Amino acid sequence: MDSKKGNDFDLSPELLDEIQANIEEIIKSFPIAECNKIDVIKKINFMYSHTKYMSVTDPLTGLYNRRHFESTIEREFLRAQRYKSDLSIAILDVDLFKKINDTFGHLCGDYVLREIAYLTMQNFRKTDMVFRYGGEEFIIILTETSIEKALIPIERLRKSIEEYPFYYDGNDLKITVSIGVEGFNENISAPDEMIDNADKALYLAKAQGRNQIITSSSL
Ligand code: GH3
Ligand code: MG
Ligand code: MG
Repeated sequence: MDSKKGNDFDLSPELLDEIQANIEEIIKSFPIAECNKIDVIKKINFMYSHTKYMSVTDPLTGLYNRRHFESTIEREFLRAQRYKSDLSIAILDVDLFKKINDTFGHLCGDYVLREIAYLTMQNFRKTDMVFRYGGEEFIIILTETSIEKALIPIERLRKSIEEYPFYYDGNDLKITVSIGVEGFNENISAPDEMIDNADKALYLAKAQGRNQIITSSSL
């Protein structure tokens, strides 16, 4: 994550939350007409939650963004390590997506990304989290889930995308995705290692013909 140091100061999210929780007290000491204070507090509360929402959200798809992924995987990894619980991640990459953009235009590409985001969100448990990792790459974190169990919803998602009737501007589109999966085990010492292994598995899925899921055990 790129948090600037030096001239820029860094307030932790916890400290910001604490300031926000005390906003009522802080506003009381300002020279604002008593009758307007409630409105000022409401406005500040709104701006705060809106900014917080935007800082973790990808605007195109409404999914969590990469920045939020980085902090979430760090925390979930530490949890899995500490409590020896299961944890899996899946990296999904749209197959031959450049061709969709080149043939039907970027707006069509954006439509495909939004539909995939929707299908992905629908497919997993509330305790799992879906992120837009990059252009046409998504990551799913499956908490308390072994790699074997993760494969069930991941395969269901792969199939549902393959069968989904994508339709844009008079054109029927066939879309498939490739997915690399890695599960936490005690030999993995950092979240980056998990991501790297899932990425290598994804690369293999591409090399072996796309529209498939590969787990790190095949590496
Ligand atoms: P592969 O099956 O090997 O993944 O092929 P690919 O064409 O999907 O891979 P490549 O990495 O060459 O292309 C990814 C494309 O994703 C390139 C870029 O134009 C497109 N892209 C990235 N972000 C966005 C976006 O936000 N909207 C749209 N429409 N296209 C995007
Ligand atoms: Mg890609
Ligand atoms: Mg791709």
